[in-house]
Amino acid sequence: MARSPIATARLDAVAAAKRVHDELGLQSRVTQGEGLIDVFEAIAELDIPLVFKPLDTALGLCLPAPLRGIIVTTRRGLHIQRFTAAHELGHVVLNHRGSVDLDILERGPLVPTGGRDLQEVAADAFAAEFLLPRWLYRHHIQSQGWTVARHLRNPDIVYQLSLRMGASYEATCWGLFSHQILPQGEVDQLRKAQVARLKATLGEEFKPGNSWADVWRLTGKDDGAKIVGNPDDLIRIELSEAAGSGYQWQVDALRKAGYEVLSDRSSFSRDPLLYGAPSVRTLIARPPAGGTGSLTMREIQPWNPETADDPAFSVALSLQGPETGGLSRAKRRRLGIRS
Ligand SMILES: [Zn+2]
Repeated sequence: MARSPIATARLDAVAAAKRVHDELGLQSRVTQGEGLIDVFEAIAELDIPLVFKPLDTALGLCLPAPLRGIIVTTRRGLHIQRFTAAHELGHVVLNHRGSVDLDILERGPLVPTGGRDLQEVAADAFAAEFLLPRWLYRHHIQSQGWTVARHLRNPDIVYQLSLRMGASYEATCWGLFSHQILPQGEVDQLRKAQVARLKATLGEEFKPGNSWADVWRLTGKDDGAKIVGNPDDLIRIELSEAAGSGYQWQVDALRKAGYEVLSDRSSFSRDPLLYGAPSVRTLIARPPAGGTGSLTMREIQPWNPETADDPAFSVALSLQGPETGGLSRAKRRRLGIRS
């Protein structure tokens, strides 16, 4: 049986997204770097003009050849801006006619399209593959030590996965399905989870600054990572601490770096069988205004001078939120313009 025009359009779009990954060497750069695909930077590297404007009705648009250029709204959050830019990049790479996009489907390549225009189906499939390729899932699953059977059916884990990939929870769920990491029934279960409730559990009584801000759960596995999010995000840090040997994480480093420490607890197993086992230090903190810079904490014995051998935990933060207008931050960096 011949492949349907829709299936062909999707396959071609996915292949085109993989080609752009290869052309820009994105797999090695992303897995050794930020852990998410900076689509704005990719567009700048491809020399395609991109500007952000306060579009009210459209999420984004792609100018027809020979002008070729992309406009993305400033009126939406960073995840939607990223998906919109990837969709418009799809139109350019696939040599489509121009397009004004009022809505964009993050559902990836396997779901009914409801009579959607073939070029739009292709651009959606391009965007899903471009931002959420299978290798990016594998990278995060491996570096976090997650397994499909024990972790990926848990909405809390999938929410944390989505933050690290710079995508919405919904788009991340669809990727689990389209890459056949989970079957549809389990993805449907995951999609029933309310993200607001996941955030509330993690942040305990503390709430992120607004409803679209996120709560990051960072552990020792995130040491050295870069966090790309919103200025109002909350950070929850859970680190094992050799409290039995008198070691403590230096929370003061957090305060000195301008963080507001909202909660600081140590859970120590009182069970005699676990005597000597490490406890877990849990901190909830609000990052300083501006939200960029790096944070390093050391685990020290307070009565001993600090040494380079003390365990350390460090993350780089880029909590700048959505693009606010004009050129992307990536483009301004390339042009040497300070943002
Ligand atoms: Zn479109």
